[in-house]
Amino acid sequence: MPLPFSVPIWSKPATARKVQPLFGNDQPADIAIVGGGIMGLSTALHAARLGMSVQVLDAGEIGHGASGLNGGQVIPGLKYDPEWLLEHFGQERGETLVNFAASTADAVFELIRDEGLSVPFARNGWIQAAHTEIALKAAANRDRQWRARGADVKLLSADEIGSMTGARGYVGGWLDRRAGVIDPLAYTSELARVATAAGVRIAESHKVSRLDKDAGKWLVSTDNGAKVQARAVILATNAYTDGLVPGLAQSIVPLHSFQIATAPLPPDLAATILPGGQAVSDSRRILVYYRKSPDGRLVLGGRGRMALPTSAADWAHLERALQRIYPALAGVAIEKRWFGRVAMTPDHLPHLHEPEPGLLAVVGCQGRGVGLMTALGGRIATYLSTGDAGQLPFPLSPIRPIPFHAFRQVGVAATIAWYRLLDALER
Ligand SMILES: Cc1cc2nc3c(=O)[nH]c(=O)nc-3n(C[C@H](O)[C@H](O)[C@H](O)COP(=O)(O)OP(=O)(O)OC[C@H]3O[C@@H](n4cnc5c(N)ncnc54)[C@H](O)[C@@H]3O)c2cc1C
Repeated sequence: MPLPFSVPIWSKPATARKVQPLFGNDQPADIAIVGGGIMGLSTALHAARLGMSVQVLDAGEIGHGASGLNGGQVIPGLKYDPEWLLEHFGQERGETLVNFAASTADAVFELIRDEGLSVPFARNGWIQAAHTEIALKAAANRDRQWRARGADVKLLSADEIGSMTGARGYVGGWLDRRAGVIDPLAYTSELARVATAAGVRIAESHKVSRLDKDAGKWLVSTDNGAKVQARAVILATNAYTDGLVPGLAQSIVPLHSFQIATAPLPPDLAATILPGGQAVSDSRRILVYYRKSPDGRLVLGGRGRMALPTSAADWAHLERALQRIYPALAGVAIEKRWFGRVAMTPDHLPHLHEPEPGLLAVVGCQGRGVGLMTALGGRIATYLSTGDAGQLPFPLSPIRPIPFHAFRQVGVAATIAWYRLLDALER
């Protein structure tokens, strides 16, 4: 029985995946992957294609983590623009990062095409909607930097953004045509299907409770008594990271992202709201993001409370945001509310760690993991196959627990309240 508010509107394709036994004691796998989200599955698929034997273990069902719950916006890039990356990482690493960041949406749409994934998608772009002149200046700066690199992007006037979104309150924006939208649960399920077909073994409802190293091999133990041996282990648990690797959970700040979905929009409204099917994120400090679903609902998400939600009232701030942006939706019912966890890092970049030889951990998607984790999975598989750390776009770094981590919830809640106030003053 799923927990309340844990079921999104997204759907799994009907195609069944063959259930396979775990690798046995007499048959160690090359790689054991803890976590069967986009990160774990993309790595598994690419590693299997490179000839490695792979066991994926997930505590729940495939797609029950952020990968099946997210907004399905496939956005290239990192939080930072190209010039910032070059300035902070130097020419060589900076260029690697910029090129990698530019490629992450391609990685998703190419997988869908090349692997024949049964995933509803549209690749019509992502709009970053500016609610102030300052935000529009930042968008113009981003536009200049990506255009100089030949990216298919465009600055939008107030009129253009008005007709593309049908939304109120924006002074302009930025269109990135490299981006698009998918059904994220279908995508995650389909990654599991093709990974299985490529020889990956996937065990659901196997929560990994211990990692031990003996005679150069890892012994992966689960809380239901199963054990798998592997040459290497990858921790792909992201915002759901627990205590398996010391300090890892304390190196990230897990936040809740909440979403609402309206009833399917009546045709007259559907024709005026996002007629081109783009995804949108706005420029507020506590931003909201939205899109239409394949069955014609408006799906809107944003930051939610840090404690677990207890009633529909915990989504009221998103309903208010929806009415501010689209007053015409006032009479349309909200049919679904759900939430999931995203992992933030202090520097807003994904972190790659190798605390011991043969143990790799990836955390910190910053709420943009659909493209990022898909693309990173391919690079990690190549690293495991070749041992060449130059294949990794981000440097391997030591795990750095955040000081006073136990108090993070208080700090984050206070920061969110302050940012909401500043956003309200700018309205
Ligand atoms: C509500 C919401 C909206 C979002 N919207 C977007 C968006 O529109 N676009 C975008 O790019 N990104 C978005 N994101 C972020 C994106 O979903 C994530 O970055 C991405 O899915 C992370 O994938 P992952 O595989 O690293 O982690 P997950 O999908 O979270 O997978 C981690 C898995 O690890 C498993 N696990 C944890 N501990 C154990 C253990 N001990 N043993 C076994 N298994 C374990 C969990 O069960 C889980 O399935 C959103 C996230 C949320 C929550």
